[in-house]
Amino acid sequence: MLYDLAIVGLGPSSAAMAITYKRLNPNKSVCIFEKYPIALRKLSSTGNGKGNFTNDNLSPLIYDNSEFVSEVFGDNPKELLFSFIDSLGLKYFKDEEGRYYPLSLSAKTISHALLRELSELGVEIFYDTFVEKVFKNEDGCFVIETINDTFLSRSVALATGSINYQSLGGDGNMFVSLKDFGHTVTKLVQSNIYIKVKEKAITKRLSGLRFNARVYLINDGEEYYHEDGELLFKDNALSGIVTFNVSNRLSRLYKKGLDSNPMIVIDFLKDQDTEEIVNYIFNSKNIYESLYNIVHPELAKLIYDISKDNKEIVKNLFSMTFTVSGLGDIENAQATSGGIKTTELKDTLESRLVDNLYILGDLVDTDAPSGGFNLSFAFLSGIKAGMSLE
Ligand SMILES: Cc1cc2nc3c(=O)[nH]c(=O)nc-3n(C[C@H](O)[C@H](O)[C@H](O)COP(=O)(O)OP(=O)(O)OC[C@H]3O[C@@H](n4cnc5c(N)ncnc54)[C@H](O)[C@@H]3O)c2cc1C
Repeated sequence: MLYDLAIVGLGPSSAAMAITYKRLNPNKSVCIFEKYPIALRKLSSTGNGKGNFTNDNLSPLIYDNSEFVSEVFGDNPKELLFSFIDSLGLKYFKDEEGRYYPLSLSAKTISHALLRELSELGVEIFYDTFVEKVFKNEDGCFVIETINDTFLSRSVALATGSINYQSLGGDGNMFVSLKDFGHTVTKLVQSNIYIKVKEKAITKRLSGLRFNARVYLINDGEEYYHEDGELLFKDNALSGIVTFNVSNRLSRLYKKGLDSNPMIVIDFLKDQDTEEIVNYIFNSKNIYESLYNIVHPELAKLIYDISKDNKEIVKNLFSMTFTVSGLGDIENAQATSGGIKTTELKDTLESRLVDNLYILGDLVDTDAPSGGFNLSFAFLSGIKAGMSLE
C-alpha cells in the first residue's frame, strides 16, 4: 500500500501532525510507526508526570534559534496551540508561575486524548515497529524500512525525538537517514539537567538540601545568565529546577564549542537587603550564632567552616562560587541542545532539501528551559506541518 503520509515515532509532535492533517484531509491515508508497545511515553512523564504542556509566556525568545521558532510560531502560537488542545476536549489550569497542566494533573490524560483522536480519525498505528531507515526510491516515493517490512509513502514526517532519556524515546538513529538526505546535525549536548561541579567537599555536605536561591552562570568572567528558583544540592552536583534552566544556557554554550571554564555563583539571600546583612555580620559578637539566624543550620555550619573571615562569610552568603566540571548524564536529561539545522527547514517544518519530508519536535535544533516550552514546540511543529501538507 502507498500511504499519503507516514510518520516515524509517536510522540506529541507526531500525534499533532497526524490529527491536524487527517482532520483537514479525511480521505488521505496516514500511518505512524512506533518502536515501543506503548506510545507517547516521554509526554506521559513530563512535568513529573503532571504534564506541563505549555506556558503563559510562550515567547520564541526563550528558545535557541529563536528567529526560526518565531517563524514557526507565527503571530499567535498560543491561540493555535489552545485551539488544538481544546479540540481534544482537554480541561486544564494555569499555576501561579504561568505553567499549564491538565486538570487531572496527569500527563497521561493528554496522551489518552491524543490516542483516542488518532483512533477516531482512522490513523493506522504500527506499535513495536522500529524504523531502521527512510529513503526515497527512483519513483520519488519514500521507502520506510522496518525490522520486518518495507512501506511506501508519498510524504514522510520524522518525529523520533532526540537522544536524551533514550529509555522513553529515540536513540538518534533517524539522524543517520537525515544525514543521507543531505541534512546537517549540529552538535548534540544534554540539556535541562543537573550541573556537575568540582567543589565536592561543599556539595557533599549540603547534599539533599533545597534552597530558594539566585543562580548565576558566569562565562569568561562575565555574567551570561541568571535565574531565581529552587536549588537542590547533590553529592557532586547542583540540581533542582533553577539549575536545569541554567544548564539549558550552558548546553547552548557547549554546543557552540565552549573553551573556557564556566562558573556557577549562588546567592542564598537574593531577597535580602545586602547592606543590612553585611552590617549584621560585621557587628556580630558571635558570628556562628548569627549565621544560624540567617540561613539553614547546615549551610550556616558550612559557611562558618570554610570562611576565613567576615568578608568571606559575606561572599559565601551572596556569591558562593563553583567551577563547572560538566553536565549530568544524557540518560537523565530532559532535553537535548542541537539537532537538524534550522536553516534547512521551512516554517512549515518541511525540509528545504527534500520535498514532502517533514522534521518535527525534538529532532529540530531548538530547545528551551523547563516550563512547558519544549512540548509547546513539539505540538506546534506538528500542527504547522499538518496544516501545510496537501
Ligand atoms: C523526564 C522528562 C520530563 C520532561 N518534562 C517536560 C515538561 O514538563 N514540559 C515540557 O514542555 N517538556 C518536557 N520534556 C520534554 C518533552 O517531553 C519533549 O520535548 C517532547 O516529548 C518531544 O516530542 P517529540 O514528538 O519530538 O518526540 P518524543 O516525545 O521523544 O517521541 C518520539 C517517539 O519516537 C519513537 N521512536 C524513536 N525512534 C524510533 C524509530 N526508529 N522507529 C520508531 N519509533 C521511534 C520513540 O519511541 C518516541 O515514542 C520532558 C522530557 C523528559 C525526558
